[in-house]
Amino acid sequence: MGSVPNKKVIVVGAGMAGLATAFRLRQAGVEVTVLESSHRVGGRVATDSRDGYVIERGAQLISSTYKNALGLVKELGIKSELKPTSPWLAIVKDNVPRRLPSGATFPIYALTSGLVSVADLGRFIWHTTKLRWPPVDNYAAWSEYDDEDTASWCKPRMGRATDYLVEPLVAGGLLVAMEETSRAMTLATLALTDNGRTREMTLSRGMGTLPEALASRVNVKLEAPVQIIEVGENGVSVQLSGERLHADHVVLATTANIASRLYPGGDELERKLMATEYASTVRISLATSRNWRDDPILKNVWGFLIPRPDRKLVVSATIESAKDPGRVPDGEMLNLIVDSKVASAMLDLPDERIVDAVLPDIERYFHGATSTRRFAQVGRLPQALPKSPVGRSRDLAAYRSSRPRGQRVLLAGDYMGMPHFESAVETGMWCANRILGASA
Ligand SMILES: Cc1cc2nc3c(=O)[nH]c(=O)nc-3n(C[C@H](O)[C@H](O)[C@H](O)COP(=O)(O)OP(=O)(O)OC[C@H]3O[C@@H](n4cnc5c(N)ncnc54)[C@H](O)[C@@H]3O)c2cc1C
Repeated sequence: MGSVPNKKVIVVGAGMAGLATAFRLRQAGVEVTVLESSHRVGGRVATDSRDGYVIERGAQLISSTYKNALGLVKELGIKSELKPTSPWLAIVKDNVPRRLPSGATFPIYALTSGLVSVADLGRFIWHTTKLRWPPVDNYAAWSEYDDEDTASWCKPRMGRATDYLVEPLVAGGLLVAMEETSRAMTLATLALTDNGRTREMTLSRGMGTLPEALASRVNVKLEAPVQIIEVGENGVSVQLSGERLHADHVVLATTANIASRLYPGGDELERKLMATEYASTVRISLATSRNWRDDPILKNVWGFLIPRPDRKLVVSATIESAKDPGRVPDGEMLNLIVDSKVASAMLDLPDERIVDAVLPDIERYFHGATSTRRFAQVGRLPQALPKSPVGRSRDLAAYRSSRPRGQRVLLAGDYMGMPHFESAVETGMWCANRILGASA
C-alpha cells in the first residue's frame, strides 16, 4: 500500500458513516477531510441537554450485536461510558402493556404475558431460527431473502405472532409498514436483535459522544455545505460556496436525497440507490415531574411498543430513566416516536399542536403525563430512516460487486445498508477499504 498516504480523500457528511470512513482512512495514513454542512457532527446521532435531562435527537441505543460501533467505542477510549439499559420492554395488546425481558426468557414472557399463543410462538421461532443469518451489518449480504414483502411472507407462516412480535419491530424499529418492507430487512433486523436476546446499551453523556469522539480524531470542517461533486479525468472536484477542492476520491455520506442532488453524474444503479425513499417521524421528548417506576405494569421498562391494533399516533417510546438513571435529574423523560404515516402529515404543524395531539394518546398508558409535564421538545425528521422495499438488498449487492477499482465517488450511509448506525459505519468502512484496496 505504498501509494496510499499520497491519496487525498474528501468525505461529504459528518454522520456516523462519513466519520467512520474518515477514521479508518486516517488510521491508514491517508489525507482526508470531512465536509459537514451543519454546525455540529453526528447527523442523526446527536444529543442535547436541557435542565439536566439528556435528550437524544436521533439514535437511542447501541446493541450488544453492534460489532463495528462497539469496536469504535473501545478504540476511542469511551468504553467506560457504556451503560446497559434495564432489560425490560413492553408491547401493548388490548390496551395493556405486556412486560418482556430481553434474553433467553423472552419467549416464555411472550407466552405468559398473553402476547402470543403457544402455537404462534412456536411458528415464529421455527420460521426465524431455521434460517441462515448473513452478517447483521451488511444488507447487501441478505439478497437471497429479498424476494417478498414482510406481510405476505409472515402472515401465512406466523399467525398472530406477526401482529405482536414482527409488526411492532418493523413499525417501531424501522418506521415502516410490513407491506412496504422486504422480508430481508425484517429478518436482518430480527437477526440484529438476536430474536429478542440482545442487551441494549447507551452512552452516559448521550449517543452524540460517539460521533464527537470520532470527529476529534479526524479533520472536519463544519458549516461547509457541498454544492456539487464532479468527476474529471484526474480526480474529483468538490464545489463549496466560494471554494473548489480536489481529491483522488470522494466518499459521499449524506442521506440519499441530498446525495442525488450533489452527484448528478452517477450511473443508473447509483441513481436508483440515491432515489431511496425515507420514512418520516416526529420525536417528542417529554419531561414530567412524575415517573412510572412503581407502576407494576411499567416497572423498569425502557422500551415501549404499540402494535397496529392499538396504535393511534405514537408507535414507540423510550423511558429514559430505565435506559440510564443518570439521564433524568428527577421525574421522567419520555421519548415519544410518532408513527411514520401520521408524522408525514404533522411535519408542518407548530410544536404546540403536535404536543397537544400526542399527549392524550400516551395518557392511555402513562397516566398523569399531561398534568405533570415540565417541557416538551419536538424534533421533525422528514428523512428519519431509509425504506427497504423488495429489491434494495439485491441492488446493494449489485453495487458492491460492480464498482470498478479506482472508482472516484463512493456512496456511504444507512441507505447503502440498514437503517441503524452499525450498518452506516459498515458502509463507511467498506468505502474506506475499497479506496485502500484500490491504492494497493
Ligand atoms: C428517531 C431515530 C432513532 C434512531 N435510533 C437508532 C438506534 O437506537 N440505534 C441505531 O443504531 N440507529 C438508530 N437510528 C438510525 C441512525 O441514527 C442512522 O441510521 C445513522 O445515524 C445514519 O448515519 P449516516 O451517516 O448514514 O447519515 P446522517 O446521520 O444523516 O449523516 C449525514 C450527514 O451529512 C450532512 N450533510 C447533508 N448535506 C450535506 C452537504 N451538502 N454537505 C456536507 N454535509 C452534508 C448532514 O448534516 C449529516 O451530518 C435512529 C434514527 C432516528 C431518526
